Amino acid sequence: MPNVNTALVIGGGIAGPVAAIALRKAGIAASVYEAYPRPSEGIGGALALEPNGLAALGVIGAAEEVRRVATPITRSVLAFGGKRLSEIPSLEGLPPRQIIERGDLHRILNERARAAGVRFECGKRLLGVHESSHGITARFEDGTTATAEILIGADGVRSTVRMLIDPAAPSASFTGLLGFGATVDARVDLEPGTMTFAFGRRAYYLYWPTSDGRTAWGANLPASKPLTLREARAMPAESWLDTLRRTYADDDPGAELARRTTPENLQVVGALHIMPPVPRWHRGRMVLVGDAVHAPSNSTGQGASLAIESAVELARCVRDLPDAESAFETYEALRRSRVERIAKRGAKINHSKAPGPVARMFMPLALPLMFKLMDVEKTMGAEQRYLIDWDARLSAAIRASAA
Ligand SMILES: Cc1cc2nc3c(=O)[nH]c(=O)nc-3n(C[C@H](O)[C@H](O)[C@H](O)COP(=O)(O)OP(=O)(O)OC[C@H]3O[C@@H](n4cnc5c(N)ncnc54)[C@H](O)[C@@H]3O)c2cc1C
Repeated sequence: MPNVNTALVIGGGIAGPVAAIALRKAGIAASVYEAYPRPSEGIGGALALEPNGLAALGVIGAAEEVRRVATPITRSVLAFGGKRLSEIPSLEGLPPRQIIERGDLHRILNERARAAGVRFECGKRLLGVHESSHGITARFEDGTTATAEILIGADGVRSTVRMLIDPAAPSASFTGLLGFGATVDARVDLEPGTMTFAFGRRAYYLYWPTSDGRTAWGANLPASKPLTLREARAMPAESWLDTLRRTYADDDPGAELARRTTPENLQVVGALHIMPPVPRWHRGRMVLVGDAVHAPSNSTGQGASLAIESAVELARCVRDLPDAESAFETYEALRRSRVERIAKRGAKINHSKAPGPVARMFMPLALPLMFKLMDVEKTMGAEQRYLIDWDARLSAAIRASAA
């Protein structure tokens, strides 16, 4: 029997419901409190789940359902100025990356959480906490409170819990890129299952065929100022579309993808962020998980996958360690070096997405050569082959060996 019996999970995005389901599986009663007034099932945009993220979803029994609605990506290619340059090497023997609509992933996780007996409350924006020797009480904007033995901050890149743990904690850094996406009625000359990472003349973008015969694409626009989602969405979609059409006007198929995008199907994502290392992952009865503590930037394709892994590992630690403090210390020891290594890789990719004129000149030669010489197992093996052995019992010895 775990020594912790109850948990408040702040944030009903990805890490929150996964943590709550995994905690229930470990015999711990968990409730999720989400700031938005409604379930987020209709929210747009797509995200990639890497084999490691899918393996972690398998622990909570959600992988098969995800695969049923997602689009598998079996091949990735790199294009420069409209020309396909090379295939991006992939690891042998792993299941494919899956692209899933964010709304679908939220729906699956929320349904699983409810089926597992997790209480899920919307319209509960956390403002503050009160901690005592018996438990922790969360105070919400609507004037209500909730109490449990521990509180998990799964409240995303602008985490309130991170600041409650450590008011001096760093904030997420702007990558210098704004994100957009759309699925359009355009057929691009691509085999099913192929994702193209394209360096256009002025900006980077990526695209892939969807299972219904259309094309999905995502754009990363260089920008000098970060815009919050609210600020970015306050600008008329027509004006963003204008910018996108000008930016990709000389790109093939970027120009066509931008031309076919309409104000109605344009997804404005806002500033893309990366989390610098967070000095304090936990304090007292509070702990962080997901983007709140390790947003590795969308360039890694690992944000959601790492959030899912961390949520499952945290539940395992709470299950096996004798108290909250040792559980949180063991969790940090298990996770910190892995997520920081992946964030470093993301920072490098972000840098290459907006190359200067000299770098641009060399890229068509250098990138294919780099992929040819790349030891894919060494570069990506540890990242994508990560498996969680749910049944293996953890002990504090992990802390010592990981330190
Ligand atoms: C454009 C873009 C593309 C991306 N593509 C990928 C990809 O291809 N693959 C990938 O793995 N990752 C991708 N990511 C990253 C991925 O979306 C995140 O890593 C993932 O959503 C993290 O999950 P999370 O649950 O930690 O945070 P979130 O999904 O942000 O969820 C946090 C939740 O907490 C709630 N919340 C916030 N504050 C409070 C509060 N005070 N009280 C209560 N609730 C609160 C929020 O409303 C939200 O629902 C992408 C991100 C962006 C922006």
